[in-house]
Amino acid sequence: MKMCHRLRAEPFSRIISLLNIPFIIKNIINSGNLPLGATCDVCEDECGTEIGLSDFRCCWCQGCCHASCLNKLSEICDLGHLRQFVVPPNNIKVRSGRIRKRLVIKEVIPPTIPDWSPVIVIGNCSSGSSEAEQILSAFRHVLNPAQVVDLSKRSPEEALEWCHLLSDITCKVIVAGGDGTVGWVFDTIFKLKLKVFCMKVRYATRFVPVFI
Ligand SMILES: [Zn+2]
Ligand SMILES: [Zn+2]
Repeated sequence: MKMCHRLRAEPFSRIISLLNIPFIIKNIINSGNLPLGATCDVCEDECGTEIGLSDFRCCWCQGCCHASCLNKLSEICDLGHLRQFVVPPNNIKVRSGRIRKRLVIKEVIPPTIPDWSPVIVIGNCSSGSSEAEQILSAFRHVLNPAQVVDLSKRSPEEALEWCHLLSDITCKVIVAGGDGTVGWVFDTIFKLKLKVFCMKVRYATRFVPVFI
């Protein structure tokens, strides 16, 4: 059973101190689209088995629950098993006003999640096949969507701004693309004089070179 649900019976202030987080993230529940074999976080039985938009899933922790169990689900979200890689939405401060109709991040307050090391995913949907689009879409489902950057809409400097905002934290950067995209991000990393601790190039059989 997940931490947030184990703590359901605890007083609210006690939950805050146990989680050791300064900002509370609430479970954001959407109906339907549960993965195959999903189990309910409340009763631990299989859920999402009915045809149509049945049962619920949290868009942050991916936790699922039956419609009948929804009133027993904790309001607090623990961001799921990938919390170490996710930038919690409540820890982001945005600038007032927008630049080119986009919100601009002013500050990121690192959460007190052990070994927190956010993943930034960069791809280019306008080059190569449609694989970059699929990869970015898959990552948007499990990370904060702001951590996933499409170079056909934003520059690599904007994508790597996370590394400046979190200068005391090691960010993991995944580039999903071909030689051109990887080289473009490489150039920007060196132009911005970012510290690189480890670099790996992986050639996947179906996808594209990825370096972390
Ligand atoms: Zn959640
Ligand atoms: Zn249930």
